Amino acid sequence: MKALVYHGPQKISLDDCPVPTITENTDAIIKIIKTTICGTDLHILKRDVPSFTPGRILGHEGIGIVEKIGPGITEIKLEDRVLISCIGGF
Ligand SMILES: [Zn+2]
Repeated sequence: MKALVYHGPQKISLDDCPVPTITENTDAIIKIIKTTICGTDLHILKRDVPSFTPGRILGHEGIGIVEKIGPGITEIKLEDRVLISCIGGF
């Protein structure tokens, strides 16, 4: 699948990446329908968010449909429409 990947300050590209899988009980995989950028993305590009290291996939604002959930997920179910946002920060 294609994903927007951070490669360092002011360096991003649309790369081929592995399809995500559930690795933690609280993971959810969402098929994105619509997305946008956030002010946090601009800070990431300026290297103001040290926890974002090169190779990290960007994109954390959007709406989508729940495709897979880990066993610890109880508040959403498969095929729910959800809003993804960075409330709470990184
Ligand atoms: Zn955000």
